[in-house]
Amino acid sequence: MTVRWGLIGASTIAKQYMIAAIRNQPDGEVAAVMSSSPERAAAYAKENGIPTAFSSLPDLLAADIDAVYISTTNELHLEQALAAAKAGKHVLCEKPLALNTADARRIVAACKQAGVVMGTNHHLRNAGAHRAMREAIAAGRIGKPVAARVFHSVYLPEHLQGWRITKPQAGGGVVLDITVHDADTLRFVLADDPVEISAFTQSAGMAGAGLEDGAMCVWRFKSGVIAQSHEGFTTKYAHTGFEVHGTEGSLFAKDVMTQKPVGSVTLRTAKGEEELTFDREDLYTRSLKAFHAAIRGEGRPSATGEDGVWSLCCAEAALESARTGRAVKIEPGI
Ligand code: NDP
Repeated sequence: MTVRWGLIGASTIAKQYMIAAIRNQPDGEVAAVMSSSPERAAAYAKENGIPTAFSSLPDLLAADIDAVYISTTNELHLEQALAAAKAGKHVLCEKPLALNTADARRIVAACKQAGVVMGTNHHLRNAGAHRAMREAIAAGRIGKPVAARVFHSVYLPEHLQGWRITKPQAGGGVVLDITVHDADTLRFVLADDPVEISAFTQSAGMAGAGLEDGAMCVWRFKSGVIAQSHEGFTTKYAHTGFEVHGTEGSLFAKDVMTQKPVGSVTLRTAKGEEELTFDREDLYTRSLKAFHAAIRGEGRPSATGEDGVWSLCCAEAALESARTGRAVKIEPGI
C-alpha cells in the first residue's frame, strides 16, 4: 500500500531533504503541499513536482492523504499536529514539537488517542556514525561511560537567517533549533536520560532582541554521566563533533553533527586507535523507512513523539537555566 504524504509547510528542509526521502521509499508518494500563501503553494508544488497545492489546512486534511510531514515554523506545529491527528493522519513533525513541553505532550496524547503513528524528525539518530557509537557503548567497548562532549556550533547559512534569529514568537533561537537535537543525540548514543541542565546563552551578533545565537550547556544524566554541549549559529569555521569518554576507552567522532551521512568515529583504548566503520545511508531516508514500517505495524519511528517531548523539555530547561542562572531539573512528565 502506498503512503500518500501531505506536506504542511513549503519549507527549505522539505525541499532539501524530505521530499527526496519520501520518494526514496518504494511505497512513498508526495501527494500534496500546503502553504499559507496560495501563490507559494502553487510555485512550490510546480518546482518540486507535487500534484496538488493547498493554502488551507482543512482542505489538505480532507484530501486523499495518509500522513503529514509538518515543517512550518515552530509556533504552528501544535495546532497543525492536533488537527492532523483529529483527521486520522499519521504525523511526522519537525523539532521542536511545540514551544513548550506541555504542548508537545498534548500532540503525543492526541496522536495516541487517534491511533495514528507519531514521530519527531530528529535526523541524527539515523546517522551511521551515531548508531556505531551507540553500539560500541552498548557492547562495553569504552567500559563504563563517564562523560560526553558535543560540538554543534555552526554558521547559520544566509538563506536561513530569517525567523530563527528575528522571531521569538515563532520559536526562534539556537536552543530550540539545535540544543533539541543534541538532547536527542545524547539520549540516543548514551542510552540514558538527562536529569539536570545548566546553561549559558549569548547573543554574539546575529540574533535579534530576545533570542540567543549561542549556548553552552552542562548536563547530568541518570547514570551519573556528565556532558557538555555547545550550540551556535555564528561560528563559521568550527568543526562539529561528539566525544564519549569511558573507563576503558574513548570515542571521538568528527564532523558528525550534520545532515549528511559523513564524518568519522575513532575508538581509542589501551590497544590503540581503531576507526569504526558504519553505513552511509541518507539520514532522512532512513527516518522515513522506519516511519513507513511503523505505519505497517512494524516497530516504531526512529524518534517517537515521546522523544520529541524529551528533547523539548531539555531545551526548555536550558532556557530557564540561562534566564535564572540556576541548574534546572529535566522532568518531561511522560
Ligand atoms: P523555512 O524558513 O524554510 O520554512 C518555514 C516556513 O517559512 C514555511 O513553512 C513557509 O511558510 C515560510 N517560508 C519559507 N520560505 C519562504 C519565503 N521565501 N517567503 C515566505 N515564506 C517562506 O524553515 P526550515 O525549512 O529551515 O525549517 C522548518 C522546520 O523544520 C522548523 O521547525 C525547523 O526547526 C525544522 N528543521 C529541522 C531540520 C532537521 O534536520 N530535523 C533541519 C531544518 C529545519 P508557508 O508554508 O506558509 O509558505
